[in-house]
Amino acid sequence: MERKSAFILGLFFVVNTLNAQIINKVPLSERITGYKMDVRLDTDAKTVSGKMEAYWVNRSGDTVPDIQMHLYMNAFRSSRTTYFKEMRGSPGEDDLDLGWIEIESFEDDNGFDLLPEMEYISPDDGNEADRTVLRVILHEPAKPGDTVFVKIGFETKLPSRIRRTGYSGNYYFVAQWFPKFGVYEPAGMRYATVGGWNCHQFHATSEFYSNHSVYDVTVTLPANYITGSGGMLISETADGIMKTQVFRGEDIVDFAWTAWPDYAVLTDRWNNVNITLLMPKDRINQAERQFTAVKNALEYFGKNVGPYPWPHLTFVDPPSIGAGAGGMEYTTLFTSGSSYFMPSFFHKPEMVTVHEFGHAYFMGIIASNEFEEPWLDEGVNSFWEVRIMDHFYGNNSGRINHPLLKISDAAATRLPYLRSSARQAVSNNEYSWKYPHGTYFIISYFKAATWLNTLMGIVGEETINEVFREYYRKWAFKHPSGTDFVNVVNEVVSREHGDKFGPDMNWFFDQTLYGTGICDYKVQGIDNHKYQKPQGRSDSDDISEIAGFNVDSLYFSVAELGRIGEIMLPVDVLIHFTNGDEVLEKWDGKERYKDFKYTGNREIEWVKIDPEFKISMDVDYNNNSMTMTPQKAPLHRLVNKITAFIEFYLSIMLL
Ligand SMILES: [Zn+2]
Repeated sequence: MERKSAFILGLFFVVNTLNAQIINKVPLSERITGYKMDVRLDTDAKTVSGKMEAYWVNRSGDTVPDIQMHLYMNAFRSSRTTYFKEMRGSPGEDDLDLGWIEIESFEDDNGFDLLPEMEYISPDDGNEADRTVLRVILHEPAKPGDTVFVKIGFETKLPSRIRRTGYSGNYYFVAQWFPKFGVYEPAGMRYATVGGWNCHQFHATSEFYSNHSVYDVTVTLPANYITGSGGMLISETADGIMKTQVFRGEDIVDFAWTAWPDYAVLTDRWNNVNITLLMPKDRINQAERQFTAVKNALEYFGKNVGPYPWPHLTFVDPPSIGAGAGGMEYTTLFTSGSSYFMPSFFHKPEMVTVHEFGHAYFMGIIASNEFEEPWLDEGVNSFWEVRIMDHFYGNNSGRINHPLLKISDAAATRLPYLRSSARQAVSNNEYSWKYPHGTYFIISYFKAATWLNTLMGIVGEETINEVFREYYRKWAFKHPSGTDFVNVVNEVVSREHGDKFGPDMNWFFDQTLYGTGICDYKVQGIDNHKYQKPQGRSDSDDISEIAGFNVDSLYFSVAELGRIGEIMLPVDVLIHFTNGDEVLEKWDGKERYKDFKYTGNREIEWVKIDPEFKISMDVDYNNNSMTMTPQKAPLHRLVNKITAFIEFYLSIMLL
């Protein structure tokens, strides 16, 4: 940055500082980047165009020659983009109206034209037809502490066929729509060994990574449109058939907005959080369910993780023409997904709302790198979704609560993990778009949620809550890595339990997060052997083991256990005897075979490994128990049918 520009830049910051009073008295984040936009929605051309002033602060010790920005909308520019290629061209149907973003002007704060210094780069795959990452060589490199200030003129053409973003008829969901800074990672941040821009292309299976920013966004659009955004509406002025709205968002990682003439706007409040719900007018009979779900999530996260730090929250239940925008998160704005007919026993709308709200914590507050470690967001968030759903909607009925069929959210989330061979994939060995076929969702969502649930089974619910409270205290607004999360677990577990689980929990993560093993325990057999009085001549009868027992009904019993999978986790084993006695054993799970032996006037009646289902990674609960009394078979067939039904249901559900 050149010194003579300090006045203009200073002005920009003064404006920001003044405005900062509007929402948060004290900034929640470092605010390394900031955006001020003035744009117009053209409902004929389906464009959003205008000007943007943005800054990036070089908080590293490096002299940085360039800036890199995401131009996500260019993912929909042609069938040759990386996004289309990764979708195997499938979005390229004849009637698809493509989308793109054009940079019309690009200046620094001295009015120096940077358009000639612009180039499109493809750091992930070298695809020259992909224009989703922009690199601009600065007129003068940014020295440590400098602020780079740019003015950009741009036009964004929205695509039809909404995939999170675009238009459908007169419905608009405007996301990933403006030039957005990548994250400059100095050496030592996450896995960076040298400083550099982390600015990935737009991919079919990955989400985002950004600094927390301040957004001042002015939108001009037809006056009959009803809008919602990730910011707060600061002002509105009408001018004939058009109106201009000013939004402000603080300390959020993205800014998205929606416009549609037919929204019903409903409001509610939870503590100091103003909640706004936009939904089709003919669906407002479902508003109460939606508000209850989001308030449940606010309460649970507030209690067990940390406070929701913004005073506002908007969520959108898109109409069916905009259903492609459903189920996505932009921190203080998210989309849910109900439909006209949704019976009250089916908690899918609540589940989507709780899930997308939860991203406010892991993608919004913690803000990890979703391109590179998606499980830190989706997996962790799914784990909390399950806990919240089953807590508020019934332990066995978090997903479906019908007299004839009850399914917990825990079971519904564990099931895809069980059914997919990709459960053996490693959680973080590759960036999300490089995951082998069919493994992205299993790795990022279901496997991670399942091993987190297993971790909770081992260390206990209160310890897991403390892990997340510490994670929040330490890493909120700071972009931690997976290793940072593991370190927090190690720290909290050893603080709470000493060396009960060993010097650290790395043995757990090596097997689950970084491992490919299968977890499966089995009761191999039960042996009740009746005591026989010694026959024949004996000179040295050892009667110590039968002392005190009635030798007429004395049994030597053995519970024979096996570990079929590679994963070794500590597990409880419940032994039930014919006289009603029960013994709860602890097995470290290390041996391939393990016997628990008993002598007494009782036989083992049944054995259950993991009676409380703490080790949800165990891929087969059916072989976890054995009983000496025969069981009825038809129940198993019914369970299998239900299982197949849930699997089908999950496969059509977009998370
Ligand atoms: Zn999600």
